[in-house]
Amino acid sequence: METKQVLYQLRTKAGLSQDALAEKLYVTRQAVSRWETGETVPNTDTLKLLSGVFGVSINTLLGAPRQLICQCCGMPLEDPMISREKDGTLNEQYCKWCYADGEYMYHDMDDLIAVCVKNMASAEHPEEEVRAYLKEKLPQLDYWKRYTELGGEGKFEEFKQTLIGEINALQVEGMPKLTKLNALVGSYVNLEYRLPNGTAVKFLDDEKTYLGNQLECEFGGDRCFGVLANMEFILICTYEKNGENPELLIYKKR
Ligand SMILES: [Zn+2]
Repeated sequence: METKQVLYQLRTKAGLSQDALAEKLYVTRQAVSRWETGETVPNTDTLKLLSGVFGVSINTLLGAPRQLICQCCGMPLEDPMISREKDGTLNEQYCKWCYADGEYMYHDMDDLIAVCVKNMASAEHPEEEVRAYLKEKLPQLDYWKRYTELGGEGKFEEFKQTLIGEINALQVEGMPKLTKLNALVGSYVNLEYRLPNGTAVKFLDDEKTYLGNQLECEFGGDRCFGVLANMEFILICTYEKNGENPELLIYKKR
C-alpha cells in the first residue's frame, strides 16, 4: 500500500475529517488532502506526529517498505510490538521486550539468548540449534554493535539489583531466592485476580514493560511463583500452568 492509501485508511478508521486531522498536525486541510491524493508526502516531522496520532510506525505510514527488526533480539516487528520512549513515541529500533521507558532491558547477550531460546525452541528447532543461531545473529544487530557506546547499563543494572534485594527481603514462604529479572510485556503477564469480595482485578498496563520472573515453589506442587515489578510496585503471585487460577500474594507500592 502507498502512503496516500495508508493515510486515508487510518484517518477514516479513526473517524476523523480531513479538517480534524489537519488541526492535530498543525497543517492545513489542503495539505492533508494533497497527501491523500498522492500529490505530496508528509515531511519527517509530520510523519512523527502522524505516528503519534495513529499509534503506528513511520514504516507503516510509508507503506511498510522495510521489515523492521528489533536491533537487540532480532525479532521481526509488527507495530504493536514496537517499543516506546518515555513520552510515548514509538522507537522503531526495538521491540517492547528489549527497550522500555528509555531503558535497554538486556545488558548481557547470554541472558537474552537464554530467554529467546526458551521462547523459540521447538521440536523442529531444538534449543542447541536456536542457541547457535542466536550466537551468530545477535552480534550483527545494531544494539550489540554499539553496546559499549550506548552504555548506561550501570544505572539500570543497579536498579535491577535493588529490586531483587527488596523482593528477596519480603521472604515469601516457599519462594526460592530471586537472582534474575527479565523484561516482560504487560499484555502477556496481566493476570486477573479474584478478590475475596468476588471482584476481579488486573494490576498491569498491557502496553508497558515490566521486570519479572517465574520461580518454582520450593515445596514442589504444580503452582509457581510469579514476580513482577517496576519503579512503582512489587507484585508476587502464584498460579498453575499457563497462569491459570492466579492468586495474589503481595502487591506493594515502592
Ligand atoms: Zn527485541
